[in-house]
Amino acid sequence: MVKLMIEDFYALLTEWLQQKDYLTIINSTCYPLINSPEKNPDYKTLWDRFLKSLLPKNYQYFISLHPYLLESFVVDLTTLSQYTVQQRVTKLIERSFFNILPDMDQTIIKSRILDFHSQLDRWADGSWHQQIQMDRSGAIDKLQRHAGFENDWDTAAFLADCGYWYPSSRASLKAWNKFSGNTSSPTELFEWWDLLKKIATEPKKLFALDFTFERTFGARAIPGMPTFCITPAACFECPLNTDCSYYKASVKLNPGINLENLIRMDDINKIETTQLISYLAGERWTESPFQKRLINNYPELLQALSADVHPGSDDERLVLFLKGLQAISERSESRKTITDSVVFCKSDIIFKELRFELAKQKQEAFYTLILDNKHRKILLKLITRGTLNQSLVHPREVFAPAIQLRAAAVILIHNHPSGDPHPSSQDIDITKRLIEVGNIVGINVLDHVIIGQETYFSFADEELM
Ligand code: SF4
Repeated sequence: MVKLMIEDFYALLTEWLQQKDYLTIINSTCYPLINSPEKNPDYKTLWDRFLKSLLPKNYQYFISLHPYLLESFVVDLTTLSQYTVQQRVTKLIERSFFNILPDMDQTIIKSRILDFHSQLDRWADGSWHQQIQMDRSGAIDKLQRHAGFENDWDTAAFLADCGYWYPSSRASLKAWNKFSGNTSSPTELFEWWDLLKKIATEPKKLFALDFTFERTFGARAIPGMPTFCITPAACFECPLNTDCSYYKASVKLNPGINLENLIRMDDINKIETTQLISYLAGERWTESPFQKRLINNYPELLQALSADVHPGSDDERLVLFLKGLQAISERSESRKTITDSVVFCKSDIIFKELRFELAKQKQEAFYTLILDNKHRKILLKLITRGTLNQSLVHPREVFAPAIQLRAAAVILIHNHPSGDPHPSSQDIDITKRLIEVGNIVGINVLDHVIIGQETYFSFADEELM
């Protein structure tokens, strides 16, 4: 029964890959690896591959943002051959970025490096090689225990990367479990291996099969090829979804998944604030100092991570979380505590009301204060953040909410983090353009107030409008 299902699954997948012409891409990426002879991996490759996993989990995010830090570590390692291993590792930690980590983390890293180092020595003299030839499962087990890999999967992935034929893809097992409705834990490498063996009789094929699944299901994404099973986003488009038990049981019926998908597709505005808060609260946020630092620096982090995230990866989950956080913070900023009854007729009132919030911000932020016909506040709307230019402060973004709220007038407000409120030529151009558009749509632009550290600049007071 199981055999039949996995064969069906494989057949469906192959058919779809053929239709889409993806099989060629997969083959061209798989075959060099499948055909590469088993080899004794070189020292540097092993360090490159393994160093990241030596780090405590929290720092792995950091390193994925700054991979060059580990590169220099590997180079240094190979140039310190005059020292004993112990001295070498101590010196490396002292002069690498590791020395900024807390002492306890440094000690953990040091002991992991030393452990791994002794394994490498054994590898280099060929004894691992022999063990792998003689007893593959036993080799995984031993390597895992000795080199400190956390589980079978990591060990097998490591061996597969070194050129040994090991099915190593947790992604493909997860995909299979979702598709078949199998509830067994996706940490069971050997069960998955047995299952694959039912349709692939020789190691080479088995590896190719695992690799095809892995590539298709996105563990290592191929540029230009969609990934499946890792993220529910893919399920809506997946040609296998009519037969997939996961899709039938979960995706179709789960509003949470839809919600995450809306964030993923940049449709966050369609999510209610309360729903968004429950999504953020639902994430496991442990308030560790590292995570707090992430929160504090989330705009930069979001920008850095968004450039290259793979669907379903931990990074992508973090990006979705940060996007949610950003949306909530923007929504709450646009509801800032301006007293509703204040009549905004003078620039000093605006300065008094907004100075505290805007003067301390480290980035430029552009707001529209939307007013009714008595010049009382309807809404303070954040339009954009970052260095202002014509394209960021687009009239559409400025006036659309004002039109929707049937506003009589608006006041433009932004801050200068430098503290000097005098307008730049950009500020003057933006103001002129927005006044012109305001005249066309019938919404008065009453003023443009630039808030500095101690003082402010008002275009209306200076008779520039
Ligand atoms: S519907 Fe989703 S879970 Fe099922 S096979 Fe397709 S991508 Fe995978």
